[in-house]
Amino acid sequence: SNQYRIIVLGEGGVGKSAVTIQFLQNHFITKYEPTLEETFRKQMEIDSEQCILEIIDTAGQEDYYSMRERYIKTGEGFLLVYSIISKTTFDKVNPLFESIQRVKESDKPSDTELVIPAVLIGNKSDLSDQRAVTKSEGEELAKSFGIPFFETSAKTSTNIKECFTTVVREMKKI
Ligand code: GDP
Ligand code: MG
Repeated sequence: SNQYRIIVLGEGGVGKSAVTIQFLQNHFITKYEPTLEETFRKQMEIDSEQCILEIIDTAGQEDYYSMRERYIKTGEGFLLVYSIISKTTFDKVNPLFESIQRVKESDKPSDTELVIPAVLIGNKSDLSDQRAVTKSEGEELAKSFGIPFFETSAKTSTNIKECFTTVVREMKKI
């Protein structure tokens, strides 16, 4: 299928919505709406294939265990977002990745290897004067998961398109 279902996960305020809107609509949202969850569709060509991206920008509820579980079950690819100006949001990524592993592990045939198409994102890279997480900390974490890493800015649009095309490429591999 040429349809790719991507779940955007991470702590509130890290920029999940801003990253998603910058990718889809090429503008930066400054208003913070913590409880707004939305599903978007976008058609785009990636590596000469017409792809339909279904993007789920999660909100608030992802704190609830069962809600998060449901997102993970239905998701095929994941963008794991933290903010480079908040160590707390970075520390929440590991438990998040572990819950993805746990859910996907229990859903797959036991004789196959577990591969999770995901990308780690350190967002708000334009605020480097307030940086609380180094780039190498991000790189190390992504390496430990075996997934690609980008520092992004939804404000300046840095690496935004790359994150989405990279997660689709990871999804095409499996
Ligand atoms: P969410 O809860 O993860 O969806 O976070 P939002 O996308 O709503 O962003 C929370 C706040 O951070 C908003 O005020 C955004 O404008 C701001 N924000 C998001 N991404 C960036 C970024 O890359 N740079 C800067 N400077 N601010 C950002
Ligand atoms: Mg949001």
